[in-house]
Amino acid sequence: MKNILYVLAILVSIGCSSPKPKTDDQADKTFATFEDNFLDAYWKQHPSGSIFVGYGKYYEELTIPNSESFAKTVAFSQLWIDSLNKIDLNGLSDNNKISLKIIKNQLESDIWYINVFKSQEWDASIYNVAGECDYIINQPYADLDVRLKTLSKHLQTTDEYYKAAIATLNKPTKEHIELAILQNQGGLSLFGASLTDSIKASGLNDVEKDELQKNISKTTTAINGYVTALKAILADKNYSFRDFRIGKELFSDKFKYDLATDFTPEQVYEKATADKQMYHGKMTAIANSLWSKYYQTESKPSDSLKLIQMVLDKIQLDHAKPSAFFDSLTNHVYRLKQFIIEKDLFAFDTASPPIKVRLMPEYARGFSVASAEFTPPYQKSGTTYYNIDDLTAYTPEKAESVLKEYNNYASQLLSIHEAVPGHCLQGIYNNKKSSDVVRSVFQNGAMIEGWAVYAESMMLEEGWGNNSPEMELVHDKLKLRELANVIIDYDLQVLNKSKEDIIHLMVVECFQTKAQAEEKYHRATVSQVQLCSYYAGSTAIQALRDDYKKKMGDKYSLKGFHETFLSYGSSPVKYIRENMLQ
Ligand code: ZN
Repeated sequence: MKNILYVLAILVSIGCSSPKPKTDDQADKTFATFEDNFLDAYWKQHPSGSIFVGYGKYYEELTIPNSESFAKTVAFSQLWIDSLNKIDLNGLSDNNKISLKIIKNQLESDIWYINVFKSQEWDASIYNVAGECDYIINQPYADLDVRLKTLSKHLQTTDEYYKAAIATLNKPTKEHIELAILQNQGGLSLFGASLTDSIKASGLNDVEKDELQKNISKTTTAINGYVTALKAILADKNYSFRDFRIGKELFSDKFKYDLATDFTPEQVYEKATADKQMYHGKMTAIANSLWSKYYQTESKPSDSLKLIQMVLDKIQLDHAKPSAFFDSLTNHVYRLKQFIIEKDLFAFDTASPPIKVRLMPEYARGFSVASAEFTPPYQKSGTTYYNIDDLTAYTPEKAESVLKEYNNYASQLLSIHEAVPGHCLQGIYNNKKSSDVVRSVFQNGAMIEGWAVYAESMMLEEGWGNNSPEMELVHDKLKLRELANVIIDYDLQVLNKSKEDIIHLMVVECFQTKAQAEEKYHRATVSQVQLCSYYAGSTAIQALRDDYKKKMGDKYSLKGFHETFLSYGSSPVKYIRENMLQ
């Protein structure tokens, strides 16, 4: 509190004494101090969040989710918003203006989540200590003994934590209860045999080992208790669950806070719906041109969607063997790096820092076939990984289905999206170029996913894939999946459409398998707005590139656009836009 008052005093004095329109160094210096103080206070208020960004200082703390702590968070956020409002925006550099806006959006969003959205009351899945414990146990931020001692402290009050969780829930949704049961049960494996082995191998003394074991069993008992309580709610025939659909008003608010965009959900939805028609037309023409290459005797179907599906069915058979999948994707990364150098698309030194391709680590498995993994923002040194799952560990049926989806064309787009120049490359720019840690810790999901999606189209425009019609068709299918994410999210959460409508859209109009459609439907019942981030983000980046090109005229180059755009870190595209177009 003392700290905050001190900062407030400084801010008030700047507000009064410097109404200059020009930026001044003193204001920026004061802002830098403000930011440091704010971030430390923020992570103290949100210790679990501090773990995921690698802040280090407050890992032992676990906030008990009761009404008192929620009220404290609201008061904390309001206090800092008040002090932000006293800063003279005109005195700050463009970069600091962005940082200030990002901080303000974060604080307003924190208040909105608790006071208006109230997910603490109806989303049972937000109560889960596994993710942060996974980080404490498995990330190499300190040696094993230190990590185990930290874990022991972090687990001291897990019994209170889960007791408060049950007490806070008020008419939860059925879908989030099911998810909470699944994820909390899954989290139990973290406290199993491999942790026991680590404890045995550690240098902890007997008293410390005993204490840790006690805290672990307290935690597993608490998790099991939570799961049992949730199962009892599910079993109650008379329980009135809340509908998982959040409705138009909350959806619009959440869209504004989560994506930080100038577009409304309706604008993005309309564009997605119009683009769906456009892609169908384009895909029909390509499928027509490829028909006789793949079907010599069959008669061509008159239904154009069926025609596209049949051609895709053949293209999808061109895929790697499970044992060759890893090498194939590793090879993409090498070739993609060569390509961006030859075409002069980035001023990126591909030799350092490296992007390391590796098999998906155990703790990250089960979510996707491939992923990008970064060093947490505060952990300055480290490696950027392109993780690829081990398909030889799949059942043959599952491997075949995954390989059809990530066939020899789609897997290249996957490597573009996850690695170069998608997530991994953007992550490296974010750590290297973004001077301000605020953009790394409060990352904008729409910018990040939008960038990866933008990268897919941009690379094909530049000639990746040699304009092959197969690559085009597979890319268009990917675009349909991205725009369908928007349509599904809005249809389900706002327009009350049925599961049948969603499955039909996915399977018939977007060429997904039944299993993929079921999976997507489920995701759309337990998340809101996140599915819109891919399309909303890439649309905003594409629009910015068009306008930037007009503004720069003769001086425009694609490389110039990429370098300038990425230099703003993972900021919301609308803030980057304001700066690039001013
Ligand atoms: Zn992505």
